[in-house]
Amino acid sequence: MANDTNKFQAIISHCKEYGFIFPSSEIYDGLQAVYDYGQMGAELKKNIKDYWWKSMTQLHDNIVGIDAAIFMHPTTWKASGHVDNFNDPMIDNKDSKKRYRVDHLIEAHAELMEKDGRDDEAKGMLNEMDRLLAKDDFEGLKKLILDRGVKCPISGTSNWTDIRQFNLMFATEFGAVSEEGDDNKVYLRPETAQGIFVNFLNVQKTGRMKIPFGIAQIGKAFRNEIVARQFIFRMREFEQMEMQFFVRPGTQKEWYEYWKEQRLQWHLSLGLPAENYRFHDHIKLAHYADAACDIEFNFPIGFKELEGIHSRTDFDLSRHQEFSKKKQQYFDTEINQNYIPYVIETSIGLDRMFLAVVSNSYEEQDLSTPEKPDSRVVMKLPAKLAPIKMAVLPLVKKDGLPDIAREIIKDCRSSFRCFFEEKDAIGKRYRRMDAIGTPFCVTVDYQTKEDNTVTIRHRDSMEQERVPVSKLKEMVLAAIE
Ligand code: ATP
Repeated sequence: MANDTNKFQAIISHCKEYGFIFPSSEIYDGLQAVYDYGQMGAELKKNIKDYWWKSMTQLHDNIVGIDAAIFMHPTTWKASGHVDNFNDPMIDNKDSKKRYRVDHLIEAHAELMEKDGRDDEAKGMLNEMDRLLAKDDFEGLKKLILDRGVKCPISGTSNWTDIRQFNLMFATEFGAVSEEGDDNKVYLRPETAQGIFVNFLNVQKTGRMKIPFGIAQIGKAFRNEIVARQFIFRMREFEQMEMQFFVRPGTQKEWYEYWKEQRLQWHLSLGLPAENYRFHDHIKLAHYADAACDIEFNFPIGFKELEGIHSRTDFDLSRHQEFSKKKQQYFDTEINQNYIPYVIETSIGLDRMFLAVVSNSYEEQDLSTPEKPDSRVVMKLPAKLAPIKMAVLPLVKKDGLPDIAREIIKDCRSSFRCFFEEKDAIGKRYRRMDAIGTPFCVTVDYQTKEDNTVTIRHRDSMEQERVPVSKLKEMVLAAIE
């Protein structure tokens, strides 16, 4: 692969060609930064979700899951600070009329500098940006953009407007449209977390939960992202997997460190390489946080945020108590005290996780020999996440081989997803399974009729071994557990 940009483009095309991801409403030329998951993508995405859900809820005694509505009472977003604070500083180029998030524009410029070998200069500029962002110093930021000669990638000019803030929440109307302004306005939630906070006491009381405990949730979130042109990395409609862990005030530092470590281990448990991960500690903290970091992943577009870990203090529950006038306190029987718990949040984008898994798995391999040119595209997906676990392929379409293949599938399909295919040469069928990441291909041949054995082919090594049909299920199950 010539470079990472090419790799990124190749992954996007591959995802479309093999039914993982399609642009939304493509027959109308798509909708910017909105995507649909196809027949393979939906399976992969669901498997990621299930893996997260199981590790959070089933494997932790003290974490339960909920599924809150996307619409919430509008006061929720006043209390959470999203109405007043969920803004990004933006700048417009007067010539191209394009709008950019200031941090993204400066980061893109830093990447260009790094490509020119001006690493120190780039680092200096990014530090300066962080410092100015932390102070909301928009004049300083504009000066930085002008001084460093940051240009619009479309018009190529530095003809910039002043920097302004834009709110990222989508609003819609509830019920009959009124003419009286904001009365009917509801928001599409920009994060799933608030659905957890407003249910904190419902869950704590009905589940008789004792602190420390967590509430997990997977669901859609919506943000009117201005710069949205990085495939599923930044979308306007996306899914989050969030967990809020409620702790005794004063213990939040320990729990923050604990969850940092736990979450990294979760990623590594999928077999994703440690060198593709790094922590990035936040300098500018969000309005609710006393510590925060990102788990960054080495995407084909560089190291970028995959998951956020935030020590959110008692900000959210206190604000909901203030706005709802309903006490959000917990009585801790161990210390005989009432308090509003502190919260550690782990928040990962499901779509970004999908992109991380796919981009890490995608490989173009040259298999040429002196006699024959050959190549394959293989998705080395973790077996437990692969959309299809086992393909069963009769060598030929006749002599009862397809029937044996169907019998094998009948025996395994309630345990894991199988796939039957009898068309085309066997090599071609293997390649198609490689391209969607199927870890095992089972071939039924004439010998099967004699001794009830089949060949099982391993996707990554392409090695084949002969095994009894009766062993197949346990072999596959062992690999996907
Ligand atoms: P970024 O700085 O990249 O905009 P963020 O810091 O705003 O992200 P959070 O508010 O911490 O993100 O959201 C938690 C997680 O949700 C992120 O780590 C990311 O994986 C995911 N996420 C956020 N915005 C988007 C988006 N527009 N598209 C896809 N995933 C997103």
